[in-house]
Amino acid sequence: MTLAHTLGYPRIGANRELKHAVEAYWKGELTQDALESTAAELRARHWQDQRDAGLDLVTVGDFAFYDQVLNVSALLGAVPPRFGQVAGEVDLDTAFRMARGRAPTGTPAAACEMTKYFDTNYHYLVPELYRDQDFRLASSRLFDEVDEARAAGHPVKVALLGPLSWLWLGKVKGDDASGETFERLELLDSLLPVYGEILTRLASQGVEWVQLDEPALVQDLPLEWRQAYESAYNMLQSAPVKLLLATYFGDLGDNLALTVGLPVEGLHIDVVRAPAQLERVLDRLPAYKVLSVGVIDGRNVWRADLATLRETLANARMRLGDRLWLAPSCSLLHVPVDLAGETALDEELKGWLAFARQKLDEVATLARLLDGRATPEEASRLADATAVFDARRGSPRIHRPGVAARVAAVTARDSQRASEYPVRARAQWERFDLPLFPTTAIGSFPQTSEIRAARRAFKQGELDREAYETRMREEIAFAVERQEALGLDVFVHGEPERNDMVEYFGEQLDGFAFTAKGWVQSYGSRCVKPPVIFGDVSRSQAMTVGWSEYAQSLTDKPMKGMLTGPVTILQWSFVRDDQSREATCRQIALALRDEVADLEAAGIGIIQIDEPALREGLPLRQAEWQRYLDWAVECFRLTSSVVRDDTQIHTHMCYSEFNDIIASIAALDADVITIETSRSDMELLDAFRDFAYPNEIGPGVYDIHSPNTPEVAWMVALMEQAAERIPAERLWVNPDCGLKTRSWAEVEPALRRMVEAAHELRRRY
Ligand code: GLN
Ligand code: ZN
Repeated sequence: MTLAHTLGYPRIGANRELKHAVEAYWKGELTQDALESTAAELRARHWQDQRDAGLDLVTVGDFAFYDQVLNVSALLGAVPPRFGQVAGEVDLDTAFRMARGRAPTGTPAAACEMTKYFDTNYHYLVPELYRDQDFRLASSRLFDEVDEARAAGHPVKVALLGPLSWLWLGKVKGDDASGETFERLELLDSLLPVYGEILTRLASQGVEWVQLDEPALVQDLPLEWRQAYESAYNMLQSAPVKLLLATYFGDLGDNLALTVGLPVEGLHIDVVRAPAQLERVLDRLPAYKVLSVGVIDGRNVWRADLATLRETLANARMRLGDRLWLAPSCSLLHVPVDLAGETALDEELKGWLAFARQKLDEVATLARLLDGRATPEEASRLADATAVFDARRGSPRIHRPGVAARVAAVTARDSQRASEYPVRARAQWERFDLPLFPTTAIGSFPQTSEIRAARRAFKQGELDREAYETRMREEIAFAVERQEALGLDVFVHGEPERNDMVEYFGEQLDGFAFTAKGWVQSYGSRCVKPPVIFGDVSRSQAMTVGWSEYAQSLTDKPMKGMLTGPVTILQWSFVRDDQSREATCRQIALALRDEVADLEAAGIGIIQIDEPALREGLPLRQAEWQRYLDWAVECFRLTSSVVRDDTQIHTHMCYSEFNDIIASIAALDADVITIETSRSDMELLDAFRDFAYPNEIGPGVYDIHSPNTPEVAWMVALMEQAAERIPAERLWVNPDCGLKTRSWAEVEPALRRMVEAAHELRRRY
């Protein structure tokens, strides 16, 4: 019998119950007991979902109030000293303080750093690693959850982040003054006994299988890390449970032989991202091991083509017999919970999709089909899936002949500005006549509760379009007035009409759909609702021109047009799987190119194309970086290169490092790039200096994440540091990012000081 299971399931709940409960608890509106009971209900429901779908095991250990990596840190007693908990059970509020700096009880302290989990949009809390750190079993939550699931009568498999990936995701803190650095791996010896203890305790609870997630194995691993995998798993093999080593998000590549040979009872591989590795693993898998094949896409929302998958897996079934397990490619954490609650999509489109709950059905159905023990209902699911798949393939909603033809007709010239930067810079200088150290903002101004309320009323039909647009125009006029008073040099309209920088464009482009409840956890209680790109992308009418034109009409200062770039729109959406991401990105680029042309024609002389997600699209393997960067850069240029020499193209990137991608950043050939730098003491500019970056740069001088007002002297000092790296005549002065999360009471004094800083700089240079 083929065993069906899942690596993990979303915990937020189909109606974001967990988000609401956790936030209420933080606000003091819900007791800890009530929070715990909501959590228990959600776990019970999600386990039951797995059983109802026909999975053979339910997964325990994927629940988290905030983050599953944080859970493991708590389990291991890896609590940074500033949170003051050195002994005893790591309690809920300590974990919340690690996550957000404060909780209903306990002394506030600086929160742990957060960053993206591999190449997903899920953020985890970075484990802080200290020399000679002690680990101890410091939380009984996992064991309690196991008891809970067993009491409900479920066959349990525990899922837990493995020791090496936990260390891999961690960051060394507090190197000693001697300057001697220490390696994360030095902690492995003290970490493993605690993992051993956890496994032993799980065994004593009657757990047979423990899934240890080791996604680090799909990345480039230094030799010491590869060796550490061998020694660590040699040690863990004495634990009285069966281990399923789970790898996902990519190909094992050069770690394949190592991984297949580790002394564990089972291995999970991702054959959605890396289909070719199935045969390679089958050829090498020792005869005692189980192979869990991740065939249902845990990173995307498309319904699976069960018939094709059955064929693909037939060989594996024959060779492995009962040693074949089936699962989604990775945890279902990265897809929305349940399509059943979806009200915003039409039936046809809905039929093309599968969310987490539906993916459980797909896994179970496929297992039974492979075994030849499918019920008539399951057999009809296969036929349905095939019919839907064929219908989707041929649907006129997906294929717009004009779009494909246009992409095919693109030539190298289309992604090339008319002249080189120095020629353009001269033309732009003559046109705009900007002072040294020109000042500007990044785009958004405070999204006040009034703005949000107006948009809500408009969407619910309580406010008509005209009234809504009048409200937004008032906001724009207000923003222009403020900038006039502050004396900024290049204006923005403030983006009041945008709820989100991707959704705003997706709603107006063809080929995009929006769900009502397609929430995916981003971090903690924060969820995002990514658009679904289901078909060829095109633009039927201008999306921003009216707003920008209006804003420009209110001032003599140049008003920046404001667009989200093609790579960022791609990166923050669920992307169709029937063509390459690259092909979809080109379509978006061409649609945006038309918007750029229209903005220029409407007299907008400066156009900013934001690409904050460019870096996060980097593949997990370095060998694949260049290929990605090449097409990503080309797509940006395709969007931007349509303009005349005297139209100035800006781009903006936040939370990014540039060292290893600086050549591609330069290849974007934006006339001006604004970046987030204020918290890095301008060190991020080293990469630009070392590369002799040729165009203009606006290094952020004002940390928009903080409510504090920066001092003039501080901003001047930052810019002086910048001027040591970049010639002063190519520097701009601006905040780190958009100001939509701030209030006007914070923004005005901060920008006033920023303008003052620019004046001071002009006196000095
Ligand atoms: N123009 C956008 C804004 O100001 C940029 C947002 C971002 O970079 N994340 O809000
Ligand atoms: Zn930004």
